[in-house]
Amino acid sequence: MYDGIVQDLIDEFGRLPGIGPKSAQRIAFHILQTQNFDVSRLAELLSEVREKVRFCEVCGNITEETRCSICRDPRRDQALICVVEEPKDVVAIERTRQFRGLYHVLGGAISPIDGVGPDDLSIPALMRRLGDGEVKEVILATDPNLEGEATAAYLSRLLTAIDVPVSRLASGLPVGGDLEFADEVTLGRAFEGRRQVE
Ligand SMILES: [Zn+2]
Repeated sequence: MYDGIVQDLIDEFGRLPGIGPKSAQRIAFHILQTQNFDVSRLAELLSEVREKVRFCEVCGNITEETRCSICRDPRRDQALICVVEEPKDVVAIERTRQFRGLYHVLGGAISPIDGVGPDDLSIPALMRRLGDGEVKEVILATDPNLEGEATAAYLSRLLTAIDVPVSRLASGLPVGGDLEFADEVTLGRAFEGRRQVE
């Protein structure tokens, strides 16, 4: 334990996802010891993202506008919606350059253990988007793990019931992992090889 604010800083970093006590200490001391570390730039950015970044009113992706750049792009295929769990998955799929449609970000996956049910996800907003019959295919690109599969199964039932064609990414993605960890080629192939859910 360190005295006062140094420990407070370490504790704060330790609360961030994926940062254990040792990393938290390393980051804190890096900031303390590096003369040219731009503390005010970091502080500025932290409050700026809080202030400016919000969720797209259409798809739930992150944006600084009311609508994200993908939803605002008229060249994107409006008849295709790819459903993902988190904004980071949008980034992963964009990197493959295989998909020119729109996205829908659920904000997580169904996970009874964590107390996350369908009502906690942005499913009503997705159903509203499908209401006008313009969408010709919904691609379920949830993570290839238990929660992601459960979410995809739930959504396929819901969507096939209202006659919206649904497809799921082809297998070949590392099972149990996150979509974002798949390399571009593998993810791109999974996209190309997607199969319609009956
Ligand atoms: Zn959007």
